[in-house]
Amino acid sequence: MNDKQKVDNLESLRKRVMHADREALIYFLTAEREEVLSTLWEWSDQVRRQHVGDAVHLRGLIEVSNYCAANCIYCGIRAGNHHLLRYRMEIPEILTQVRLAVKLGYGTVVLQSGESSRQMPGRWVTELIRTIRSECDLAITLGMGERSRDEYQEWFSAGANRYLMRYETSNSGLFHTLHPGHLGLESRLNSLHLLREIGYEIGSGIMVGIPGQTWDDLAADLLLFRQLNLDMIGVGPFLPHPETPLGSSYLEGQVFTPGAQVPNNEITTLKTVALTRLVCPMANIPSTTALAAVDVKSGHELGLSRGANVIMPNLTPTHYRSLYEIYPAKADTGEAAEHYDSRLKARILALGRHPGIGRGDSPNKGVRTCEHNPEH
Ligand code: SAH
Repeated sequence: MNDKQKVDNLESLRKRVMHADREALIYFLTAEREEVLSTLWEWSDQVRRQHVGDAVHLRGLIEVSNYCAANCIYCGIRAGNHHLLRYRMEIPEILTQVRLAVKLGYGTVVLQSGESSRQMPGRWVTELIRTIRSECDLAITLGMGERSRDEYQEWFSAGANRYLMRYETSNSGLFHTLHPGHLGLESRLNSLHLLREIGYEIGSGIMVGIPGQTWDDLAADLLLFRQLNLDMIGVGPFLPHPETPLGSSYLEGQVFTPGAQVPNNEITTLKTVALTRLVCPMANIPSTTALAAVDVKSGHELGLSRGANVIMPNLTPTHYRSLYEIYPAKADTGEAAEHYDSRLKARILALGRHPGIGRGDSPNKGVRTCEHNPEH
């Protein structure tokens, strides 16, 4: 192929990716040639700038409780992990961290937890949201797993704005293996549907390199992002936690579906982030903590230059953080939030970007169209 043919070929592939063509997605996911990869990085950065601009929105993450009744086989805070002291923060403690988010200029707090109706009754969450809302104007995002429609509704009415719930994989067989006792992928997708119906901005996402995940699965994950017309999309590598069934078998070197297996490495995660930006140009996409965990030095920057426009600094008080190990050695070193924040903002400016101002609502929400929205 001469140079012109190569350019034409890439251009036609770009169009196919933008239209979420499965084979074109797999072509880029498995690409190794520098020339192809640099083209993908360039496109994702261009599309990010064009659709969501140069602002990097900062969302303060507060891990409010590690109580969990679920037994996801990859997650360090699963019910079956008995080597873990469980906690639920007090509302005044959470409020102190929310005030810190306001002081640092963040437009959003993300309240994340395990899944436990017993330890985190719906009414408690409602009171928490009301308390925050009565004092602050920032956006409130919840990531508390699957709950009842009534609870989602009550929390929305109390002032919550957004909900994050990853589907982790679009392969229903693999989803079933990962989530014993769960009703299944359809039920998780139904929760996302309910949340959107109520009026939340909805976020979902996946892990890259789950044992058993194939290239075909990963391409299907990307197609589902687009089909769900998500406001927020989180993509991070699977990180083995030794106190979990999946993590320990991975660490013992058990091989799953050799050949077709997606690796849980940095480059594959970055390709997935870049393609996510191309298939969902308007979404808010974080450069995830899990990505920063595999590359402490430059993971965040690489995510931001290959499609991402959000970072979620951890505002959980340091003495709780070690109890919220969904995977080991999370990127944070226990550094105080204020120090981390000033280093992070300097890193953002060094990329030629700037910290976002205001809530950083989903640009997608205002423009959902009949064409994209299967509910209409
Ligand atoms: N209970 C909440 C929060 C779960 S933790 C909920 O269900 O939404 C948030 C995300 O961390 C999960 O959705 C999962 O994608 C990711 N995660 C959990 N364990 C992980 C691991 N071992 N490696 C990488 N990511 C993990």
